Amino acid sequence: MTKNYKGRRVLIIGLARSGLAATKLLVRLGAKVTITDMQSAEELNVPVQELPREVKLILGGHESVIIADYNFAVISPGVPWESSLPTKLRDGGIELISELELAFTLISAPIIAITGSNGKSTTTTLIGEILKAWGKKVYIGGNIGSPLSGAVGGDYDFIVVEVSSFQLEGVKTFRPMVALLLNITPDHLDRHGTMDHYIELKLSLFDNQRKGDVAIINASDEHSTNKSLNPLVPVKYFSLEKKADEEIWVEGDSAILKKNNKMVELFKISDLNIFGPHNVENALAASLAAMVVGVDLDTIKNAIKTFSGLPHRMELVAEVDGIFFYNDSKATNPDAVIKSLAGFSKNVALIAGGLSKSSDFKPMAEAMVNSAKGVVLIGEAASELEAALGVFQPKVRATDMVEAVEEAAKWCRPGDSVVLSPGCASFDMFDNFQHRGDCFREAVNNYLGIAG
Ligand code: ADP
Repeated sequence: MTKNYKGRRVLIIGLARSGLAATKLLVRLGAKVTITDMQSAEELNVPVQELPREVKLILGGHESVIIADYNFAVISPGVPWESSLPTKLRDGGIELISELELAFTLISAPIIAITGSNGKSTTTTLIGEILKAWGKKVYIGGNIGSPLSGAVGGDYDFIVVEVSSFQLEGVKTFRPMVALLLNITPDHLDRHGTMDHYIELKLSLFDNQRKGDVAIINASDEHSTNKSLNPLVPVKYFSLEKKADEEIWVEGDSAILKKNNKMVELFKISDLNIFGPHNVENALAASLAAMVVGVDLDTIKNAIKTFSGLPHRMELVAEVDGIFFYNDSKATNPDAVIKSLAGFSKNVALIAGGLSKSSDFKPMAEAMVNSAKGVVLIGEAASELEAALGVFQPKVRATDMVEAVEEAAKWCRPGDSVVLSPGCASFDMFDNFQHRGDCFREAVNNYLGIAG
């Protein structure tokens, strides 16, 4: 892919965050940009009128797109790679890349990239915080916050980028200096079809790495460790348990690392301000990435201790009369729920359900049976979840979040928690996971009689 985009005719497919960022970047670079989207200007939640005037719009469908008019196309993560327009473009010999790939061709700062089924945003943010505490200028973005395009032309020491499986579909040369794969558990199978394809996409993060780069994986994740990885790059492992070759792991209350063949305590698990064993994994992964780029151990330790997590990820929104209310709305797949429940023992009133992503709910139902004292079911997946829960009681259905919180709280005594951890997408009842989490917080405030 050329780095000179001046005068190039580009089709942007999908006008959301990434499409908008790619458009702004390409216009700045002198490209001739056309944007197409299935939705009309009215349906799109984007200030179309703010786009540069020279940008051409083909909205409300792709029918009038003439593929021969374009030198290449940029596909947004929300647009399936196998859908009709991308397929037509590929068949017509038009190069198709993702916004991430486009931005990468214009960036020279070292990139630390994070993928995985769960924990990406938390780990990305934590690595960014450690590097900032080290005194570096850091761009944190990608699938979280601002797209990678926003980093182009900036003066950064490091770029920390969260990468989704959707973005990896359009990658050709993207080469992170440090690439982290946190875990692989079933997610987005409605889009990727098979688990094998999903695993392949996640592992492709390492494909373009070369000598001098480093791969980081979770030694306890069989989907990552079972595969042969890029032979050109060393692999460094983290894990909750010491199994074999880990560089960092947990013993009792200590995160232990190997340094100059000595075992050193990096931080105490009890000092963390983020909840649950999955967050310990995230802290280990982030520490390892920071060590790889040379951050000193004191800086890592202090940054880890002060990090208090992100909203909507096991976020404590209230504690009243010994009852805790956690917003884990970002748990949009079953494994996130399983990991979140692992921190509890039969003292959780769980609110779960929403829009299924062709997930298998059996393992999640098992975790609920083991850890929940009751389950409130919401959304389209409620019946499927109810069936997966079998004879488990109590389980009730709620039509909205206010009712869900009221029902869940009825089961709680001091020491118990009401947890919203849906294991599903939010779009059946809410705009997105943030909206779902905000509605939960509001419902909790209403329930507790606190002005929201
Ligand atoms: P992502 O960006 O991959 O969606 P987040 O950091 O936003 O990850 O967390 C999403 C959900 O996954 C939250 O419910 C959180 O509690 C859970 N989670 C976070 N880290 C992990 C992990 N390492 N393994 C499993 N679940 C996790």
